[in-house]
Amino acid sequence: MPLDAKAQRERRARLKAKYPPQKKKFSRKRCLNCPKFFELTQPTRKFCSPACKDEYNHYGGAYGPLKQRIEKIITKMVIERVAASHVEILAEIQKLNDKINAIVVLKS
Ligand SMILES: [Zn+2]
Repeated sequence: MPLDAKAQRERRARLKAKYPPQKKKFSRKRCLNCPKFFELTQPTRKFCSPACKDEYNHYGGAYGPLKQRIEKIITKMVIERVAASHVEILAEIQKLNDKINAIVVLKS
């Protein structure tokens, strides 16, 4: 049996007094520039700090040009190291060849 309008209003008022509506809190959000979480003071904030905002705006999107630069630096480093190790290996092979040649000369 449905309650009449007055009874419904009273019931709602009683429930509201018993369980007051909680204020909506802003939740935590991840900064767009760094992996930190921060408490939202305004619903539209995107960065944890003004420094992060400046960094983000300076480098464009999330690590766009910075990422490309880092990739270039890493490939350059890898190529240098591979070349260096290649030279070292060649030198060692040359040393071993010299030793073998010396032994062959002694035996003959
Ligand atoms: Zn940040």
